[in-house]
Amino acid sequence: MTSSISFRYELEKKQPRVGPGGITRGASVNDFPASVGIAGVSMRLQPGAMRELHWHANAAEWAYIVDGYCRTTIIHPDGNTYTDSFGPGDVWYFPKGYGHVIQGLGPGECHFILIFDNGNFSEDHTFSITDFISHVPAAVAAQSLGITEDEVAQLPKGEVYFAQGEVPDDHSLLSDPRPAPQLISMHRYPLHAQQPRRIPGGGTQRVVSAAEFPISTTITGSLIELQPGALRELHWHPNADEWQYFISGTAEVGIFLAEGEAVTEYFNAGDVGYVPMGAGHYIKNTGNDLCKILIGFNSGHYQALDLSEWLAGNPIDLIAGNFGIPKALADKFPATKNFIIP
Ligand code: MN
Ligand code: MN
Repeated sequence: MTSSISFRYELEKKQPRVGPGGITRGASVNDFPASVGIAGVSMRLQPGAMRELHWHANAAEWAYIVDGYCRTTIIHPDGNTYTDSFGPGDVWYFPKGYGHVIQGLGPGECHFILIFDNGNFSEDHTFSITDFISHVPAAVAAQSLGITEDEVAQLPKGEVYFAQGEVPDDHSLLSDPRPAPQLISMHRYPLHAQQPRRIPGGGTQRVVSAAEFPISTTITGSLIELQPGALRELHWHPNADEWQYFISGTAEVGIFLAEGEAVTEYFNAGDVGYVPMGAGHYIKNTGNDLCKILIGFNSGHYQALDLSEWLAGNPIDLIAGNFGIPKALADKFPATKNFIIP
């Protein structure tokens, strides 16, 4: 039996929202019905362009920089503000409701993937500064900002969303070649700089949970690279849904939903996948190139149970009995955890 709903969404084929200097494509549960627990966005900013000051009422925001450079500022409820710059392979985490802004630094476009720990994340739950100020009486806006009502008339009449600003005049951000970003800060974690777990001939995995990046209490990120033919073995996650963005290559993902129900999906670069919490699954690189996958989990704790480890932890006679096979055959099953199989 196969599932009637799709676990694949062609995010980069979606018609984007386009504004001055910015392009965004989002996948909430409205676009991608399977993804009830996690939503995602693919956004691109030109140098100087910004996703204006805003906050999200119902979700924390986690990001991975695919390409290019940007900077962010964020304010905490204690009044402290933090400014960070990000390059390829860096991650950020912004708690739910904290005000923030993202600006492209150049050179070239900055492309990043945003993950929200709520499938109902949408623009309905996103509050932009210009939308806010343009929806209070002019007298209140004037009093609040310390300007005249005539000056309030110069402000945007509605939500700006994307705004084209100047490239920051900060040469430490613009030096070329840029220093390799290595530093962890309150909101920034250099995931690609992490030494990966490496399976010779099979691939690599990098993980950033709250253990590595303390502020990221509700989201864990993972970057998996699979060599051609390699298999991220049968496994499941006891504590979190899994949201996948295929950065490069092609893959087959099988998802087992219990009671005989299973679905197989085929992915290309730019597609998004989703695996519900607890559902058994695998990822196989079906192409001749490296398959690179960004994965987000809606828990700050990383948990995975791999089939090989489970089988290896049971007595051979029990496994033989379970499958109704000779012990000699059961003995060929994995004796240790595989994780990725070349
Ligand atoms: Mn945001
Ligand atoms: Mn998984």
